[in-house]
Amino acid sequence: MFHVCSDTFFPRAGKGSENERVKVGAMTPSPVLRVAVPVPLRRLFDYLPPSRGDIPAIGARIRVPFGRRQLVGLVVAHADSSAIPLKQLKAVLEAIDKRPLLSESLMKLMHWSARYYHHAPGEVFLGMLPAFVRRGRPAEISRQCIWRISESGRALNEDALRRAPLQRTLLQALTQTPAGLNAAQLADIAKGWRAAMKSLMQRGWAEETARAEESPATTEAIPGPGLNDDQLQAVNAITGSLECFRRWLLFGVTGSGKTEVYIEVMSQVIAAGKQVLVLVPEIGLTSQLVNRVKTRLGVTVAVMHSGLNDSERLHSWMQAHKGMAQVVLGTRSAVYAPFRSLGLIVVDEEHDSSFKQQDGFRYHARDVAIVRARDENIPIILGSATPSLESLYQVKQCNYQMLQLPNRTGRARAPKVELIDMRRTPADSGLSPQLFDALKANLGKEEQSLVFLNRRGYAPVYMCYRCGWLAPCPRCDARLIVHQGSRRLRCHHCGADQPIPGACPQCGTEDLHPIGEGTEKLEETLKQRLPNARIARIDRDSTRRKGSFDDLMNKVEQGEIDILVGTQMLAKGHDYHDLTLVAVVNADQGLFSIDFRAPEHMVQQIMQVSGRAGRGDKPGKVLIQTWHPEHVVFDALKQNNYLVFADKALFERRAAQLPPYAHLASLRGEATSKHNVQEFIAQAYQSGKQIGDTMQIELSAPITSVMEKRAGRFRMQILLQSSKRPELHRHLELWLPLLEEMPLAKKVRWSLDVDPMDLY
Ligand code: ADP
Ligand code: ZN
Ligand code: ZN
Repeated sequence: MFHVCSDTFFPRAGKGSENERVKVGAMTPSPVLRVAVPVPLRRLFDYLPPSRGDIPAIGARIRVPFGRRQLVGLVVAHADSSAIPLKQLKAVLEAIDKRPLLSESLMKLMHWSARYYHHAPGEVFLGMLPAFVRRGRPAEISRQCIWRISESGRALNEDALRRAPLQRTLLQALTQTPAGLNAAQLADIAKGWRAAMKSLMQRGWAEETARAEESPATTEAIPGPGLNDDQLQAVNAITGSLECFRRWLLFGVTGSGKTEVYIEVMSQVIAAGKQVLVLVPEIGLTSQLVNRVKTRLGVTVAVMHSGLNDSERLHSWMQAHKGMAQVVLGTRSAVYAPFRSLGLIVVDEEHDSSFKQQDGFRYHARDVAIVRARDENIPIILGSATPSLESLYQVKQCNYQMLQLPNRTGRARAPKVELIDMRRTPADSGLSPQLFDALKANLGKEEQSLVFLNRRGYAPVYMCYRCGWLAPCPRCDARLIVHQGSRRLRCHHCGADQPIPGACPQCGTEDLHPIGEGTEKLEETLKQRLPNARIARIDRDSTRRKGSFDDLMNKVEQGEIDILVGTQMLAKGHDYHDLTLVAVVNADQGLFSIDFRAPEHMVQQIMQVSGRAGRGDKPGKVLIQTWHPEHVVFDALKQNNYLVFADKALFERRAAQLPPYAHLASLRGEATSKHNVQEFIAQAYQSGKQIGDTMQIELSAPITSVMEKRAGRFRMQILLQSSKRPELHRHLELWLPLLEEMPLAKKVRWSLDVDPMDLY
């Protein structure tokens, strides 16, 4: 194998000892470098320093030989010895960074992450860097190029580019903006702008110039509303101790002004010369918040999310790194952004499960953010209208301090919530007469409505009435979803995609029908029943095109939409001023799931979407359709009181010894061979059981996943549970090396998930 291997990153069973552990930040002048290399192995690799020049610093990138390849690695530690004889170690080929690229505290965070999530350090240290940095490109702020119109371009006659519409569009845009446009702005104007611009430049009608670094403060700050008493109290509490690690849970109903609290605290932190990290759960939420922060604080905001291309990502990363951006606002992975001087972290919608990465390196950005705040000794604000039970538990334990904003700001009041008992109600496409009446009434008042159903597509089932055939996914234990608009059947689990068949593959008749409803069907029904209403659908299908979500939201804002139909994409963040009615079509999804978190997520989702109603001056109303109106979750929903639900749920979690009262980890295996998964999981269970014998650990017997087959693979898992976190980690440290050595481990795709969110 690789001769460079020496130390293991994690202490191994039997061999592990304290002094073998890597110490981050120990700067002894020494001959051995411990290096994180981007490979999926849970270990670091030892190298000798390059033959010439200084010893590469901790946190600097280097190029190393690895097997037959050359890889970019990161120096994680200096050591004075190696388990491998020094003369067998290879030397670093090249030092890429003269000085550390990553700060000591960021290195420490990544180190903690690799250990806590038991993940390959190379994938943590390098995987969380922008692609260009990871590949060894110089870490510099890229020159921002600007394209301008030239003298001869300006003199051009309108008709000159009649045959090249793209060039003409660009030239028109450049004429209107004599200061020039950058790549991002041009991309917004036309997708294939680069080729067209090249032609324009070749003909001498446009020119390219480089603009130096952007000026730090961009605009003048525009003051916000004066804060109310609750907001002031929250701001004063937080700003009272900005110099140390404090965890705040800002629990405020939707529209209570949480964002104003963040902004006020941020302005004080920025005034003290520090930077702020703001984490949001979804890309869709970034643009509105970025604009709000920019206008209110007049600062540079670096945005980080998966919608950026590689150079945009590098640009944001460098802006944060050099301290040119006072605020970094991003989704999950932004928790690993570099900072010159971080002074505050804000996690908005902290309960949202998209903070948890569901594959590969399975970290939880909110939890990592808390560790980061502790390491940096700074405050962190977790905000939510429906906090996670984990966070509420921490409040009970006096680890977090709760700040409450119980009322909506200004004249807005909490919406009135009513249940519609569907057991005695004839429904048309899942919509009750009461719901139609309410929609009609709202239309008459020229107020906006939102119809929520968390199921996209036309219908969840496609069925033959003659023989009972239900269109199955060929690769999953799941049904195909009908997408009428595109005339396809699709699997929402594996992406399988096929045309809607004209005849039943089982009996040959054409008696095929979609059963049930998704957002597409709702949209269709509403358009038929309310022909005068302007209806828009918002889900992942209708917003695939870049910018289409923002375009639709603008239309809503301009009052060009009467009824919005959509999935949970509608539930969050957006402030709809004229929206007064929210209809929840099917509240029962999640009531009887075997996932113990399902009711929590259901209540959070319904409260979030309900919170969209009545945010302006007019009162709001929420209608919830259910077949189980007596279920306890509806008490909380009717009273609009999340804590009513949370208290009950926490009580149940304690009785069942589930998180947050216990800690979980799950070992999952999947393979195309059912036998291999079964064997692997059975063997893993045996060895796990043996280790666990002496510990306070519960190992569930191997469980077949609810959806046994997914994307052609059979899936099984083992759940580990302990009331003591250190015990759980100690067990995993002993168990993982055994798993790695099992012959079947190479035939089965397996992974470990610490604090899993998605359980079955
Ligand atoms: P949240 O983040 O809790 O949903 P926001 O901070 O977005 O709430 O505030 C909701 C709305 O109320 C926004 O339009 C905001 O500008 C406004 N607002 C916030 N605080 C106040 C205040 N003290 N007085 C008047 N309006 C306010
Ligand atoms: Zn049939
Ligand atoms: Zn599938």
